[in-house]
Amino acid sequence: MSKIQAVRGMNDILPSDIYKWHFFENAVKQTLHNYGYQEIRLPIVEKSELFHRGVGAGTDIVEKETYDFSDRNDEALTLRPEGTAGCVRAMIEHGLLRNQIQKVWYTGAMFRYERPQKGRYRQFYQLGVEVYGNSHIAQDAEVLSLSWQLWQALGLDTHVTLELNNLGSAQNRADYVSALVDYLTPLKDQLDEDSQRRLGKNPLRILDSKNENTQRLLDNAPNLHDFLDQDIQKDFEALTEYLSVLNIPYKINSRLVRGIDYYCNTVFEWVTDKLGAQGTICAGGRYDSLVSDLQGPETPAVGFAMGVERIILLLETLELIPESTQNADIYVISDESSIFKSMPMIETLRKSLPHLTIEQNTSLGSFKSQFKKADKSGAALALVIAEDEVNNNTCVIKFLREDKEQVTIPQAELASYIQNHYA
Ligand code: ATP
Ligand code: MG
Repeated sequence: MSKIQAVRGMNDILPSDIYKWHFFENAVKQTLHNYGYQEIRLPIVEKSELFHRGVGAGTDIVEKETYDFSDRNDEALTLRPEGTAGCVRAMIEHGLLRNQIQKVWYTGAMFRYERPQKGRYRQFYQLGVEVYGNSHIAQDAEVLSLSWQLWQALGLDTHVTLELNNLGSAQNRADYVSALVDYLTPLKDQLDEDSQRRLGKNPLRILDSKNENTQRLLDNAPNLHDFLDQDIQKDFEALTEYLSVLNIPYKINSRLVRGIDYYCNTVFEWVTDKLGAQGTICAGGRYDSLVSDLQGPETPAVGFAMGVERIILLLETLELIPESTQNADIYVISDESSIFKSMPMIETLRKSLPHLTIEQNTSLGSFKSQFKKADKSGAALALVIAEDEVNNNTCVIKFLREDKEQVTIPQAELASYIQNHYA
């Protein structure tokens, strides 16, 4: 029988790497807290219909990337490919959208059946932020400033670029799409294969094509911005003014469209040139019709999702993650005759010194092998509690990193001794 391995594209995050994730999570949680956003935890599995209706049946995600299955009761379920649809479902289900503004964030695994490569996996983590109930453009600005603050907290602000666009209302987009199709149809043969397919199904995505020839053909195509309502154009200008007063550098990219159907008006991506083809580390925008599309009350919404693996890859590339010290502080050595006494005693010691890592040897090999392990643990001190020590209520302290004689002290004084000498 062969060894069982992880599913392709689904990664283990090992203890030796976890400090990188903690570094990211701590910085991000602090910033979200500073802005008053609250965490929401959502199921990983939802009814398939939620994503068909929420993300859009014609999107790449739903057409090609979802993990769908039926449970034992033949219910059609899907591993979430993104967090927004589930978040909206929860908001509606719990009646959280009536006459109130909700500002939430979530983090967790998402699943998409894609071709695995650097920065693209089948299970990956996103950190998402969503705001419900505010249509003012100042909200779009706040969400962008929040993402900018996150880059600052991580030290990434000089390594990322904001690309910004406005997709207009559903009507603006429909008018534009029809003009775009009129322009591209006579040129269909010159388009790349993907774009030819999209011409019939999702023409807006052609703007997103990576094909140079297609991009050249688009140079003379109608411009989306000429199709925007006046008040939307005004909002878009206002947003750029917010960015100026907030000192957030940006670039307008009139060909930026998003792969998910629910976006309208503001859309944006944060990109880096240091991760090759997987350079988008955060993407989002407004989605004012999704809540009502999912049978909730008419509710404007704006948000974004960050790709955590890509951000960690970027932090690694730039060497921005402080080295971790996962060392133990104290290593406890005992034997068969003393462990019943030493274990409860060490529990008490941990409570008195909660900032220290106190590791107890529980395999009880020879003292020699226990001292080897103590040395490897990185601890500064070894506490030896063997039969004599138990009988005398004492404890031997050995200094593992200093040239100092061992000391024997009463157990009752142990916590204060360590506190005074080492904390
Ligand atoms: P891409 O164009 O790279 O496929 P996307 O438009 O499908 O991205 P979104 O649905 O907007 O991505 O997801 C938001 C973010 O999540 C992306 O900007 C990216 O950082 C990250 N992300 C998306 N898909 C993956 C994946 N398969 N593996 C790792 N990260 C991903
Ligand atoms: Mg994708």
